[in-house]
Amino acid sequence: MSEKEVYSHERKRMVDQQMVSRGIQDARVLEAMLAIPRHEFVPQDQVRRAYIDAPLPIGNHQTISQPYIVALMTEFLNLKGHEIVLEIGTGSGYQAAILGYLAKKVYSIERIPELAERSRSLLHSLQLENIEVVVGDGSCGLPEHAPYQAIIVTAAAPEVPKPLEDQLSDGGRLVAPVGSRMGQVLELWRRDGKKLVCEKLTPVAFVPLIGEHAWLDED
Ligand code: SAM
Repeated sequence: MSEKEVYSHERKRMVDQQMVSRGIQDARVLEAMLAIPRHEFVPQDQVRRAYIDAPLPIGNHQTISQPYIVALMTEFLNLKGHEIVLEIGTGSGYQAAILGYLAKKVYSIERIPELAERSRSLLHSLQLENIEVVVGDGSCGLPEHAPYQAIIVTAAAPEVPKPLEDQLSDGGRLVAPVGSRMGQVLELWRRDGKKLVCEKLTPVAFVPLIGEHAWLDED
């Protein structure tokens, strides 16, 4: 088997054992998880672990999320292909790549310039051209391209940052881990006109969202 075939086989196993068996049903999400080469998004010393059922370190004290959590959060966004999506917390760029596969355009914000630069050049080398990585404080959102049909926060916030609520379009969906630094609950927000409806989904554990409308410092 070629290296490419080995990784493709690992992705198939990841999707069957970690996603389908736990109830991920959106065929487009499963297709994206099969298509995007996760091993390209992890550091060299983690490549052999790229498809395991766990988050992995990516440097700068940050992580690439567990594959199942990436699929679950993506499924909750219910993307059809026409959406402009905002991601907060680019990290490795993996979640952004999945979103880019499923939506029209993705803006992804990362506060650590080194991670943003690495993801930007990786996404470019993989010819994933509908994703723009921006360095900044994602807790303020990205008002210049708002409103967004979908917003995903991939770091833990004490509450959903108000600017993100304001930048969500009518009918739009926002998914975010909300709680303490020790543990959070995944929340799904839906905008219906001026009203926002919140559904609490499942317990998760993310690294903190550091910013003006989130935690103010690293510890
Ligand atoms: N989505 C990422 C991936 O696919 O690899 C994983 C995200 S990692 C769990 C959380 C990321 O959020 C880190 O890279 C961290 O630097 C970033 N982050 C934390 N606070 C932020 C903020 N205010 N704005 C933008 N990024 C932030």
